[in-house]
Amino acid sequence: MSILVYIEHAEGAVKKSSLEAVSYGKALSEKIGAGDVIAVALGTVESSELAKAGSAGASKVMHVNDDKLTAGVIQAHADAVAQVYKQVGATTLVLAKSSLGDAVAARLSIKLGAGLVSNVVELPDTSAGYKVKRSIYTGKAFAETEVTTEHKILAVKKNAVDLKVDGEDASIETVSLSIGENNFATKITSTDKATGDILLPEADIVVSGGRGLKGPENWGMIENLAKELGAATGCSKPVSDIGWRPHHEHVGQTGVKVAPTLYVAVGISGAIQHLAGVNSSKYIVVINKDPEAPFFKAADYGIVGDAFEVIPKLTEAIKAI
Ligand code: FAD
Repeated sequence: MSILVYIEHAEGAVKKSSLEAVSYGKALSEKIGAGDVIAVALGTVESSELAKAGSAGASKVMHVNDDKLTAGVIQAHADAVAQVYKQVGATTLVLAKSSLGDAVAARLSIKLGAGLVSNVVELPDTSAGYKVKRSIYTGKAFAETEVTTEHKILAVKKNAVDLKVDGEDASIETVSLSIGENNFATKITSTDKATGDILLPEADIVVSGGRGLKGPENWGMIENLAKELGAATGCSKPVSDIGWRPHHEHVGQTGVKVAPTLYVAVGISGAIQHLAGVNSSKYIVVINKDPEAPFFKAADYGIVGDAFEVIPKLTEAIKAI
């Protein structure tokens, strides 16, 4: 019995959500007595970066250091992870729920004959069977799913696990695999890079603005606050529809789903479609001049006030820290 964790990286860094998956794998291993947790990483990335998976609980990272394994070649990822999974004799694969994770996990489920549960929020209940709690309906409810197959795949929801980063670096084993050419039948030929230094879907802090900001000329204060906090910027759908902000910043049910530690919503009413994209955030701070704005019901902290007065003061106060 052993646990393999598939870790993703972007811009040269292991994703936080993948480190959370490693922490989950470690806690699961301790719970069921599965021994060492091994991680697998694909494509070009520094070993020193991969070693950080050790701090979250992996003893070793198997690195398939093949530059053809970019994030776009999903079939090749599934093939490579399946090979490593069999090599280490794993019975459970843990990964972070993400668009790449979902695509790879679905293929692996077929390849390995493994039961797949996505959006997992807790360790399984193994007292009778193997029951896994997962988040459904964009975080509004939970479902319990029983997995009856020997092999299991658990895709962990972002921010559902406390990330423990107190272990030592993991050792790195470079692995070379033979991955059939048919797995590279499709490839991404170009990508548009989002503006800003911090990618919205991965950001740990997000400052988002809504129609309450009146116009694109007022976004400077959102950007200043975001800069002071080291945050990515986001917006509500109408704001990107009108063209005040680019579409890749649109957060919500029909836009980017974020899962930061801190989400700051400025001049956003809190419509259910917007909340669907932010309800995995750990802490939500709402700044709105209307005390009846629905967003306050979802907020951990709220400031009732005019954004044009509150934001500059807040930015100055943060700068002074
Ligand atoms: P408004 O609803 O106009 O709210 C503006 C807020 O700013 C108000 O609460 C107001 O009190 C406050 N305000 C005004 N002036 C100030 C000030 N000076 N200081 C502080 N606060 C101020 N929306 C999304 O965001 N994401 C989605 O993915 C999404 N998907 C949708 C899908 C469908 C099928 C549909 C029908 C709608 C979708 N919407 C989505 C739209 C959504 O229903 C809301 O219309 C939208 O979120 C409202 O945007 P808003 O809060 O910026 O604007």
